[in-house]
Amino acid sequence: MTQSKRKIVIVGGGITGLAAAFRAQEKINHEQLDAEITIVEANHRLGGKIQTVVQDGFVIERGPDSFLERKISMGRLIKDVGLEDKLVPNATGQAFILVNDKLHPMPGGAIMGIPTQIKPFMVTDLISLTGKLRAAGDFVLPKSDHQRDQSLGTFFRRRLGNEVVENLIEPLLSGIYAGDIDQISLQSTFPQYGKLEQEHRSLIAGMKKTSPAANRKPGDKKKSMFLTLSTGLESLVDQLETMLGDCEIVKGTRVESIRRGERYRLSLNSGAVIEADSVIFTVPHFTAGSVFSETELLNEIEDIPATSVATVAMAFNKEEVEDILDGTGFVVSRNSDYTITACTWTHNKWPHTVPDGKVLLRCYVGRAGDETVVDLSDDQIERIVLDDLNKIIKVKSKPAFTIVTRWKKSMPQYTVGHRERMANVRAELEKSFPGVYLAGASYDGIGLPDCIDQGEAAAYKALNFITQ
Ligand code: FAD
Repeated sequence: MTQSKRKIVIVGGGITGLAAAFRAQEKINHEQLDAEITIVEANHRLGGKIQTVVQDGFVIERGPDSFLERKISMGRLIKDVGLEDKLVPNATGQAFILVNDKLHPMPGGAIMGIPTQIKPFMVTDLISLTGKLRAAGDFVLPKSDHQRDQSLGTFFRRRLGNEVVENLIEPLLSGIYAGDIDQISLQSTFPQYGKLEQEHRSLIAGMKKTSPAANRKPGDKKKSMFLTLSTGLESLVDQLETMLGDCEIVKGTRVESIRRGERYRLSLNSGAVIEADSVIFTVPHFTAGSVFSETELLNEIEDIPATSVATVAMAFNKEEVEDILDGTGFVVSRNSDYTITACTWTHNKWPHTVPDGKVLLRCYVGRAGDETVVDLSDDQIERIVLDDLNKIIKVKSKPAFTIVTRWKKSMPQYTVGHRERMANVRAELEKSFPGVYLAGASYDGIGLPDCIDQGEAAAYKALNFITQ
């Protein structure tokens, strides 16, 4: 009897699953391995949270709109699939923070809200004199002897004081995680800041010594930090799908449970069963939890909180919107009475995505503790967003069109102790389900490049496992 090919099944066809499949297939072809890959995706399309709408000359991202250039795996994947010529950097410009009904320019030298240059920080009216003096305490405060994980809030409040946290750091971080910074783990999100404190005592002094951006001179041109694709991020998904011709791709089908036997048996909602020698789960933690519900393996991470958000893209003729400042957009401090949490002036930040003479405002609603808005109707969300916008700019008519996209439980919150819990779960999984891996936004990083890193690492582990 001939032995069938060894099979890796990838559950979930978002960017994590696609990156895993691409790298695994690349190695199978290159090393002529006797192995095959199947992707099972619940939806009728691939890409997960990456979704682009091209409409009336606009290129609109419903989910992620760009990625950090310094995290190299996404740029590398884009080059490897032949889309390098479509890479576009963001147009740089002033970013603002909305505090007390006023847009304040982000002080020069603020990195992730951490002030690293004295002069712009001293002149900003975003922070009171008392708040500024408290932040200067960072230069003299001893380093903490906190050996275990701590929340971002605990860490930054201790070093820089509450006012800097609330008016500068929290709005920016919450723009990334839609979370509560007093719950989110320092170790799982920004471990480098904890390290700076341990090595340099002062966070600000540590940043000055290690970050080129902290030493930019006042006249230096701001460097772009983000990249996107001129045709929209979904073009990466389409290109990956085209290049994955050797993989079997099963769409519109959910994996519901897994059983260990001679091979793994994955039960699908269609009633069919797929056998596999190795499995990479790239689905959110709550879905992975239900797939493993016959065991208690994922109990520790199944209840990771996940926040719901919605993006609201609104298109206008230029003359219909007044008082937009020359800049890229703003984030909103939690102590302001607004429902929107951020707004990108997309026509300024990503001009290639908006036709001449038009304006595209892309707002966010929903964050930890404030998510009910996501369940309202499109019309209600549009009205709330317009009311908020009208407090700071003048929107003279209804948008030519609005695209509301709800992302339920889409932002996993890595709460304090997350890394340790993940390590425990992985160790248990390895014992009870060898050759089965977890990768993706719920686990070791939420940004697109972090997801790609995880997908690629899982692909190599799975190949090692089936060929050992
Ligand atoms: P997903 O994209 O969620 O893919 C998981 C896939 O699994 C889905 O396709 C799903 O249908 C499928 N699935 C679920 N259950 C099953 C099942 N039982 N069987 C089979 N398949 C299943 N990151 C950035 O770097 N830059 C940004 O600008 C940015 N902006 C963002 C904006 C928003 C609104 C959101 C929500 C996220 C943003 N992120 C951003 C984060 C980033 O987009 C995500 O973390 C990333 O896309 C997640 O990819 P993934 O493959 O891990 O998960």
